[in-house]
Amino acid sequence: MSDIGKNLKQIQQRIDQSPRKTGDTSTITLIAVSKKKPGTDIRAAFASGQTDFGENYLQEALEKQQELADLPLTWHFIGPIQSNKTRAIAENFHWVHSVDRLKIARRLAEQRPDQLPPLNICLQVNIDNEASKSGLHADEVADVIHTISSLDNINLRGLMAIPQPRDDMTPAFRKVAELFHAMKRQFSLPQWDTLSMGMSADLEQAIAEGANMIRVGTDIFGARPQ
Ligand SMILES: *Cc1c(COP(=O)(O)O)cnc(C)c1O
Repeated sequence: MSDIGKNLKQIQQRIDQSPRKTGDTSTITLIAVSKKKPGTDIRAAFASGQTDFGENYLQEALEKQQELADLPLTWHFIGPIQSNKTRAIAENFHWVHSVDRLKIARRLAEQRPDQLPPLNICLQVNIDNEASKSGLHADEVADVIHTISSLDNINLRGLMAIPQPRDDMTPAFRKVAELFHAMKRQFSLPQWDTLSMGMSADLEQAIAEGANMIRVGTDIFGARPQ
């Protein structure tokens, strides 16, 4: 088995052994974050059964998608989005986790080709109100959902967050989860089912708070070049 295959197996064990809330039996989807890693690494991961991949940089992602067009992969865009990049994102990805403002959501909906299934969207929440980080503030989320929930060609699936790293990540993950559940109660969205949080260093804490999509790069593919 390749190193990547072994790493994937270890991540799967960490997921399986993560404590869950009582009664939480939701399936956890692992997104392998392949930014700055070559297509050959993605091929190795696919050979070990991994199908969902996350990319941050559009041009780099499009090149790998071409190179790997023979594989049935699910592509997640997870990086910051400039508005002049929305068309290519809407045309080439299955999921976008980093929708951080109304304008981006509107453009993705308008530009998603009609012949493709709706684009799955998560709203990115800046849960620690960090000045340097993109994402909606928690108190803006309801307004954005209200405005975009009726748009065609997008499917609003949930929330994504990258809390500030600290010793105890639990309070931040819990805040995101509480917001996720509050929005579920407030709106009757057809498929509001995704809490995208947790990375290499903190996936256990995220899962304990209810994350069901985790995004792992380093612990699968190794350290990235700077
Ligand atoms: C890079 C990245 C990850 C993966 O982080 P690791 O610490 O390498 O697991 C997850 N989510 C986002 C949004 C990222 O940019």
